[in-house]
Amino acid sequence: SDPRVINFAAGPAALPENVLLKAQSELYNWRGSGMSVMEMSHRGKEFLSIIQKAESDLRNLLAIPSDYSVLFLQGGATTQFASLPLNLCASSSDPADYVVTGSWGDKAFKEAQKYCNPSVVWSGKSEKYTKVPSFDGFEQNPHAKYLHICANETIHGVEFKDYPVPKNPNGVLIADMSSNFCSKPVDVSKFGVIYAGAQKNVGPSGVTIVIIRKDLIGKAREVTPVMLDYKIHDENSSLYNTPPCFGIYMCGLVFDDLLAQGGLEEVERKNQRKAKILYDAIDESGGFFRCPVEKSVRSLMNVPFTLERAELEGEFIKEAAKEKMVQLKGHRSVGGMRASIYNAMPLAGVEKLVAFMKEFQARHA
Ligand code: PMP
Repeated sequence: SDPRVINFAAGPAALPENVLLKAQSELYNWRGSGMSVMEMSHRGKEFLSIIQKAESDLRNLLAIPSDYSVLFLQGGATTQFASLPLNLCASSSDPADYVVTGSWGDKAFKEAQKYCNPSVVWSGKSEKYTKVPSFDGFEQNPHAKYLHICANETIHGVEFKDYPVPKNPNGVLIADMSSNFCSKPVDVSKFGVIYAGAQKNVGPSGVTIVIIRKDLIGKAREVTPVMLDYKIHDENSSLYNTPPCFGIYMCGLVFDDLLAQGGLEEVERKNQRKAKILYDAIDESGGFFRCPVEKSVRSLMNVPFTLERAELEGEFIKEAAKEKMVQLKGHRSVGGMRASIYNAMPLAGVEKLVAFMKEFQARHA
């Protein structure tokens, strides 16, 4: 029988099985080099070919315009919370706007308070982070250096389906896409910076991808640590210091796989289909299962839900685990359940969860 579980973890999360098997087959001796990728010099021709292909495949996938740089960094998306104001604001009094649709947007805002003068232009906190505002429903600072959003809130399951435009004509839109990166096509030209930790949709933890419009590079404040300065990484093609080589290699295998699947339009179609059957099962349960998120902004990636009879949640999670469906517990800050159904979650995994939900409900009717 299949030794693998159906992994609904929010991140690190499931990776495509064919990618894992490919990495396994190349682990000991990468393509006749006599070395594992983990043993290669990051400046050798073998690794250079790996990082260059990863970048060019990512550029293809997202149709990244040539006036954008792609950086493979470390420190997680959390490090970007500080890098952004340090690189884009000339002083700690420069304003920046944050739309806060969940915990991650809130964390980004709080970190920025150390390095610039950010404002929360809209917060969904009082409505328990179940909404995205209408874009004329909040007032932007016309001098804000940037407008920051979290494109998909991993904990609350709230996803932007469209993007606001910065009011400042010299400002830029910045998105944390950690949990929906490469899950659908995105018009990169609408953004000044897109950033994402790899460990949900495109690889293992340890790699952070930054896509940045080139004219925004080279303006870091003097106090900016060298590892946070986009210019240093850009000038050195992400090889200023030792990069997370194996992680970048894994991301490259995932990008290759996404292209082979037909690119992000096809990937989005699959993700929509998976999300629809899960949300339908919740909405058609007569209130037995509930998803608090407003329908128009429900995430295709992270599906939070609760049981009307909250006392059954422990049993639900335990019994699901017996059927090899794991990591369904909601984030500790919100409780309930959460099914993360990133690119690598097969349709059959979601179908199995939905069948289990129906059977569980029938038993507890
Ligand atoms: N932003 C979002 C949307 C996330 O989901 C996460 C991680 N769960 C982070 C930021 C933080 O990322 P990291 O752990 O890579 O620093």
